[in-house]
Parts: sequence; C-alpha cells; structure tokens
Amino acid sequence: MTSRAAIVGSGPNGLAAAITLARAGWRVDVYEANATPGGAVRSAALTLPGFIHDVGSAIHPLAVVSPFFRTLPLTRYGLDFVSSPAAVAHPLPGGAALLWRSVDETADGLGIDGPAYRRLLTPLVNRADALFQETLKPLLRVPRHPLTLARFGLRGLPPAALLARTIFRGEAARALFAGLSAHAEVPLTQPVTSAYGLMLAVSAHVVGWPFPRGGAQAITDAMLGYLEHLGGRVHMNHPVDRLGALEADVQLLDISPREFLRLAPQLPSSYTRQLRRFRYGAGTIKLDYALSAAIPWRDPRTALAATVHLGGPLEAVVDSEAQSVSGLPAQPYVLLAQHTPFDPSRAPAGHHTAWLYVHVPGGYVPQPGDIDRIEAQIEALAPGFRDVVLARRVTSAADAERLNRNLVGGDVGGGANTLAGTVIRPVMSASPYRTPLPGVYLCSASTPPGGGVHGMAGHHAALTALSDHATSRRRWGGGGGTI
Ligand SMILES: Cc1cc2nc3c(=O)[nH]c(=O)nc-3n(C[C@H](O)[C@H](O)[C@H](O)COP(=O)(O)OP(=O)(O)OC[C@H]3O[C@@H](n4cnc5c(N)ncnc54)[C@H](O)[C@@H]3O)c2cc1C
Repeated sequence: MTSRAAIVGSGPNGLAAAITLARAGWRVDVYEANATPGGAVRSAALTLPGFIHDVGSAIHPLAVVSPFFRTLPLTRYGLDFVSSPAAVAHPLPGGAALLWRSVDETADGLGIDGPAYRRLLTPLVNRADALFQETLKPLLRVPRHPLTLARFGLRGLPPAALLARTIFRGEAARALFAGLSAHAEVPLTQPVTSAYGLMLAVSAHVVGWPFPRGGAQAITDAMLGYLEHLGGRVHMNHPVDRLGALEADVQLLDISPREFLRLAPQLPSSYTRQLRRFRYGAGTIKLDYALSAAIPWRDPRTALAATVHLGGPLEAVVDSEAQSVSGLPAQPYVLLAQHTPFDPSRAPAGHHTAWLYVHVPGGYVPQPGDIDRIEAQIEALAPGFRDVVLARRVTSAADAERLNRNLVGGDVGGGANTLAGTVIRPVMSASPYRTPLPGVYLCSASTPPGGGVHGMAGHHAALTALSDHATSRRRWGGGGGTI
C-alpha cells in the first residue's frame, strides 16, 4: 500500500518536504492556510497594477547553493535566475564598497584590506561545497568535513564587530562585512554574527546573489509544478487547527513552534517547556515602492548591485543593530533590493520597484515619523529618491504575521540567530525535526539550518521521517492510519 504524508504549510520547507516524500513514491497532500501558496516566497502587485513586488524573500543565493535545490529540475518549470554585475553595494561617503563575484576583484576594491580579504575568503570559497553541506544541516551531528567546519567555526564564532575590527583597517572592508553580517538580525557584538557575514560573502563569490526573473513567486511555482508532476496535491485555504484531523502515515509541519503548541495541546510538558522558551528574532518594517525611474544613487556604482546595504560605516551599522532591540534606530541599517534594472519584467516599461526592510523589536508598531526616518537614509545616498516614488506599501511586523503566521512578531528568519538559537532549534537534538508525537515532524525555518530559501529543513525532516517509517515497518510491518 502507498504510504501517505500530510504537509502543513506550503513555504519552501513544506514544499521541499513534499517533493522529497513524493520522489520516494509517497502520496503527498500539502495543506496551506492562505489563498496562495509559497509562504514567504511569493510575489504580488503590492502597490500599483503592473508592479510586481516580492512579498517576502527577494534575493536567493541560498536557493542556488542549496544541496537539495541543486537536485531539482526547476528550470524545466520556468525558474530562471538573474544576476546583477555586483552582488552587493554598500554606499559610503568615500564611494560604494562592492562585493563582486570574484574574490580578487572585491579585494582589489578594498585598498589596504585587499590582502586580508583574500586571506579570509579564499580558503572558504575553495571549500564552498563542503561548507554549505556542513552548515545547511543540524550542527549537532558528526561533521563529514570536520576541518572545513573547524576553519569556518574559528572565523565565524566571534562577533562580527570584533572580527571586522581585528582583521580589517579600512572603512570599506569593515562596512561591507558589517552590512553582510547584519543579515543575522542580532546585534553585531553577539557571537556567530561573523558566520552569517562569511556565509553570505562565500555565496556571493560562488554563485553571485541572484533572484528569479519575474519575482520570487517563480521559485514557488516551479516547486509546485515539479511536485504536481510527481503526483503531489496542494490544498489552499486549508488552515490546519488540530493534529489528527489529517489522514496520513506521517505529518510534516512547516509551522512555528508557537503554532505547534496551539495545534498539539497533548505534547508532553517537558517538550512544551522547551518550545515555550524558543526565542524569535527581530521584527521588521518592510517597504515596497513603485518608482517612476531608477533610484538616483549619488555614487552610480551603487546601481551595479541588486542588493544595497544602507548603513554607513561599521560603527553606524553596529549602533543601528544594537538600537533595533528597543525601537527603530536613529539611523536604521536598511536592506534594499532593486530588481528592475536587471529584470525589467517586474514593472511597466521605464518604471522600477524597490524592496526594503529594517530591523525593529519583535511585534513593533510603527510610530509617526518612522517611515520618514527610513526614507531619509535612502535620500541621503540617493538625492531625489522621494521625487520618483509613485506609490508605497508599508508592511509592519503585525501585518507580516497576519499574512503568514510563521512570521512571529515580524521575524523573517523563523527564530533568533543567536548562538543558542543557531544550535538549539527549536530543541537541543541531533535530529530536532522529530517531535514526541510518533509520525509528526517539524520542518520549518525554526528547525536547522534556519531561515532562508534553501528547503534544507524540509528535506532533512522528510529524510528523517522516511528513515523512521522504514524502521517501524521493518519492526512492526504494515502501517497507515490517522495520527
Ligand atoms: C520580508 C522577508 C524577507 C526575506 N528575505 C529573504 C531573502 O532575501 N532571501 C532568503 O533566502 N530568505 C529571505 N527571507 C526568509 C525566507 O523567506 C524564509 O526563511 C523561508 O520562507 C522560510 O520557509 P518556511 O517554509 O520555513 O516557512 P514560510 O515560507 O513562512 O511558509 C510557512 C507556510 O505555512 C503556512 N502555515 C502556517 N501554519 C499553518 C497552519 N496551521 N495550517 C496551514 N498552513 C499553515 C503559512 O501560511 C505559510 O504559507 C525573507 C523573509 C521575509 C518575510
């Protein structure tokens, strides 16, 4: 008899779990609360007709380096990645620092710090495949590449502010590294923030920072196309409010620990306590713009990258991330994506879009003057920005959670990227996907390897479910039924 799986949630991890099980010959049904699939990987006309904005994720190096995604025939289902000439621009008073695909070209642009940048990145880039295999899975497992992981750990463990000050002397390299590390969404004085900066720099040198032509939705559509080809089915407008309501041999839950507690009041108290202690990451204010022209950057080289980090020198980014714990920073670090100069299909001819967000405390409610303060950061580096704005859409932390219940308090990463949150996700285990309920697995970004569009949490959780199911069949024979 064919084994059956129910997947709750159609984010990239839910779809990765579904594809892994469907490829193993299982009958798979995906249940999604929203009217549209994809979780935080969707696109929509958020401002004006004809302007396509990414509702959540915007830049996708992790989808390209992901060992799981690399096995999927997604180009056959319409996925086509676009790259900008530079991966990242970080404008500074003396001109923009640029992160290029080539380590040497990047180093050459960093002046005095060029040799230090080469020494830091080259060994990691040379072992990138092993590095991504080790870091895109639970860390509490015996590594297959211990030396690569040890070398990475040595550099990645310190706070980014410390590593940048120790290794680099010039403003450009320090700021570039701070901007990359700030994706961790925790103050840069905290341990392991360097690891985020290094991983993102390595990904830029290996694959650039590409994004799907037409919008992030193309990733979801391609995954769905392939899943349907494998016989999987997706049920929209189907919130799951109780475990046990779905007929299946296993259930994989692409949901937050908080949602799991709601759906499964029968969980044992020791496990419940651990999930209650789980810490979510920073909240966000996200802004999407329809523009009548490209952003008028003061330094035109800023236009060479689809991703722009607005935050000034290292010290300013460190201050911003520290202040974001208690409110909107005085001069917020802004993470901005400009897709349309490289992918004109996302806006009417001659027009453009901009996507950006800033870090704030979880659940933060925007205050009068906040949006002005964020826009002032752009205007300072792109005088005339406000003049090209045709329309704007603000998504607060509460809006984000309303759109997708996995974004607890506006947390875009499924949990805090602190040292503890990186290792204990959501519980301390070599296989944190297993739960105390037989046949029930967690597979969202709140499990390893955490946030980002890579599908690795869903894939690892599904492999765990397959292995457990095979073991229990060998032991007991048969199977099937309602959990
Ligand atoms: C604003 C923003 C910007 C981001 N930028 C990037 C980026 O540039 N690059 C990158 O790699 N990553 C980025 N991310 C992070 C990335 O999108 C997430 O880490 C990733 O989508 C997590 O995937 P997931 O499958 O775990 O969960 P999600 O994508 O959040 O999907 C979870 C799905 O489960 C559904 N669900 C939850 N509970 C239930 C229930 N009880 N019943 C039925 N359905 C349920 C939800 O409706 C949702 O559709 C960003 C995220 C956001 C929000």
